[in-house]
Amino acid sequence: MRVNGKWYFHCLIPALLLLALCGCGKSAESAEHSFFALDTYITMQATGPDAEAVLMAAEEQMQARERQWSVTNPDSEIYAINHSDGNMVEISLDTAKLIQFALDMSAQTDGALDPTIYPVLTAWGFTTGSYQVPDQDTIDELLSAVDYRNIHLKDSSVTIEDGVQIDLGAVAKGYIGDEVADLLREQGVTSALINLGGNVQTIGTKPDGSLWRIGVRNPFADGNLGVLQVEDMAVVTSGGYERYFTDEAGNTYWHIIDPKTGYPADSGLVSVTVAASEGKRCDALSTALFVMGPEQAADYWRSCGDFEMLLVLADGDIWLTDGLNNTFTLSEKDTNGEVTVIRHETK
Ligand code: AMP
Ligand code: MG
Repeated sequence: MRVNGKWYFHCLIPALLLLALCGCGKSAESAEHSFFALDTYITMQATGPDAEAVLMAAEEQMQARERQWSVTNPDSEIYAINHSDGNMVEISLDTAKLIQFALDMSAQTDGALDPTIYPVLTAWGFTTGSYQVPDQDTIDELLSAVDYRNIHLKDSSVTIEDGVQIDLGAVAKGYIGDEVADLLREQGVTSALINLGGNVQTIGTKPDGSLWRIGVRNPFADGNLGVLQVEDMAVVTSGGYERYFTDEAGNTYWHIIDPKTGYPADSGLVSVTVAASEGKRCDALSTALFVMGPEQAADYWRSCGDFEMLLVLADGDIWLTDGLNNTFTLSEKDTNGEVTVIRHETK
């Protein structure tokens, strides 16, 4: 075959340049990676060019966020805020954004989500594992400082009032899941599943084009209550079964606290699963809706409508929003509860 010199320069070189620029020269690979961080076992799988290296970078990002946002690490920014004795603390822009998001969601949920609940959680022993039921005077005293409006954020400085302590555990994992999904997408990943212990983030579909299957845990027994099939979505569950203790009389106390009472949320719900495009919104809402209870959660969904949810009630019944009706498959063997579809009111 005769190679025309002109053709060579006009077509082949630009084509090679284009290939080099857009990285199209690398074929997609699939990789998996698991590790422990953020107080949970994290698993990731991804398909894209250099997927393995991208997952390593994702782990590095998550470990860095843990160092920055851990409530117990004396080097973290959250620790510095909690030990500031009412003085102003300079924080990074990233931490300011996370706090601002938590404050916005606290306001939107009328304080059902409240990052200042931390001292109450500590009194119950949820931060140390030394569980106890605090006496009412202790709860009342601690509750007097619980109010997200006691956090004053301005640009990248924050002041919390004396006696206030914050914990972003109810929103940070969702926030970090979004960040990691963005990182993966930027690196050309077209298909991925990131599971931060109940906080699931998906990119695209499975490599074979089918939907990701996300199990919704059965709060009453081992195994799944059913499966959600999704693509390009986050799915986050808050469940009473995740961390709890039982007293001598057989009462169960779990780690999601109602900021109005200082007691574990007794709202009639045992788990809340939220699906939406952003993991941080799912995470904030799953905790807040758990506190609100089924009726108020349904009203909240009707007023916003930018997410879907699946509620498991204490009696085993399941309420799910319209948009999940065809997405959720109930596992026949594991439930006796009745399924109700929540719809927008049509008057
Ligand atoms: P999640 O698993 O996302 O529902 O978050 C639960 C965690 O958030 C708990 O382990 C506490 O650290 C914290 N938490 C508990 N109750 C609340 C609340 N009402 N508002 C904000 N954070 C909470
Ligand atoms: Mg949450």
